[in-house]
Amino acid sequence: MKALMIIKEVYAKTILSKSKVMDYTVNPYIGCEHGCTYCYARFMKRFTGHKEKWGTFVDLKINAPKLLQREIKKKPVGRIWISGTCDPYQPLESKYELTKKCLEILSRNDWPITIQTKSPLVRRDSEILRKFSDVEIGFSIATANDQLRKLFEPDAPSIGERFETVEELHAMGFRVFVMIAPLLPEAEYLVKHLRKNVDYVLIDKMNYHHADWVYRKYGLNHAMTQNFLDEMKGELAKALNREKIPHKFLY
Ligand code: SF4
Repeated sequence: MKALMIIKEVYAKTILSKSKVMDYTVNPYIGCEHGCTYCYARFMKRFTGHKEKWGTFVDLKINAPKLLQREIKKKPVGRIWISGTCDPYQPLESKYELTKKCLEILSRNDWPITIQTKSPLVRRDSEILRKFSDVEIGFSIATANDQLRKLFEPDAPSIGERFETVEELHAMGFRVFVMIAPLLPEAEYLVKHLRKNVDYVLIDKMNYHHADWVYRKYGLNHAMTQNFLDEMKGELAKALNREKIPHKFLY
C-alpha cells in the first residue's frame, strides 16, 4: 500500500536554475510522487532537510509562477528542462497546476523548452505547448514489461499509458522523444511500439545505485552487468536501425 504523502506549501527563493543538462531547469515541486526506486533526484533530500522516504513527500513551490515571471526578464534566453529533479506532471499537478502556470508564462515569452515526464497528464497542456515555436516532449520508459516496471517505478503511470500518450502527442505534431533509461530487461520490445511515434530515442544505463536492492531481491542481478549492457546495446541498435529511428546511446 502506498505510504501517506506529506504535502507542504513552500516559498522558493529561485525557480529558473542553471542546469548541466540544458541551459536551465524549472522544478515546480521538490520530491516526486512517482517514487522510482532508482531516482537520482533523491539527492534533493540533502539540500532540503527532508528525512522522509523518497516518494512520500512533495513540497509545492507555490510562488514558482511569480518567480519565473520575474526571472525570465533578467536572465538570457536558453533552453529549459522541465523538469530535472521531479516529474512536472506528477499527480499533484492536476490540482495545483504549477507546471501549467509556468508554461503559460514561458509560452508568452517563447523560450525553448524540453518537457520530461512519465505521465499522460502532459496532454492537458497541449494547447499551451502548441504556442511554443520550439518545444519537445520526452517520455522516460525503461522497459516494455509492466510487471518489471512496477518493481522499479511502483507509483508511476503504466507503460501502456505512456505509449498511448507518446502516440497521441506525436500525431498532434509535437516533437516527441523517448528516453530508454535506466535500461532495464525487455527494453528491446519497446522499439515496435515506438515505430512512427517518436522523433528520436536516447538510451542510458542505470547510473546510480539506489535500486541495486531491487535487482537482488527479484533475481535480476544479470541486468547490472556489463555483459547485459553490451548485449542490449547490440539488440536495441539493430531494432532501432531496422525501424529507422534516430537514436543515441549515452553509455
Ligand atoms: S518520475 Fe523521475 S523524478 Fe519522479 S521519482 Fe521517477 S525518476 Fe524520480
